[in-house]
Amino acid sequence: MLGTRATEDAVSRRPSSVLIGVLALQGGFEAHERMLRKLKPTPPRTREVRVPGDLDGLDGLVIPGGESTTMTLGVQREGLADPLRELSAAGVPVLGSCAGLIMLDREHLGLMDIRADRNAFGRQIRSFETDVELQGLQGGPMRGIFIRAPWIAEHGPAVEILAEVEGHPVAARQGSMLAVSFHTELGDDDRLHRWFLHLVGERRAAGGVPEPR
Ligand code: GLN
Repeated sequence: MLGTRATEDAVSRRPSSVLIGVLALQGGFEAHERMLRKLKPTPPRTREVRVPGDLDGLDGLVIPGGESTTMTLGVQREGLADPLRELSAAGVPVLGSCAGLIMLDREHLGLMDIRADRNAFGRQIRSFETDVELQGLQGGPMRGIFIRAPWIAEHGPAVEILAEVEGHPVAARQGSMLAVSFHTELGDDDRLHRWFLHLVGERRAAGGVPEPR
């Protein structure tokens, strides 16, 4: 699953030149940063993104969980919506978890052809953990932590559904974008972040040329 670039970096023991931004307006951005910084063999550098200038030179972006309403207000306040759309149009991989998935949907940033239903499993009492079998991810199911989680209510043909819980899509991929309803940044299972970093490596290896979506 690891790309050649990661292997080369490990061999030469240089610090990674890969730079991953984590949207840090609100929510659980620190847990994503911690997980990214521990990825093997060569962790990427990370940068907290709060204003459009923070997007310059990013190889990938993570949108964390939190409250999509508050995050949307922050995006509007800082004028981040169009710069985020440009980043994604340039093919830069994006990983959204929970509120991050909502931010990616048609009614928010519109980076993915999905429509999320917020708090779809119910409110506080419907926070739960369950094993999620993610298509394309080797090594068995992931432990998904669902906290007032959304599910994907609708999606277009370019979207590949990767997992379902109770018959509802909770993970999807569209080109170099990955969205999950649940939190994977809280435990020790870093496979989703490694997959994301692999997509980042693929784009860099292709010279930053966006792949058709
Ligand atoms: N319920 C939140 C929202 O609607 C998402 C919860 C989460 O990110 N854990 O934005």
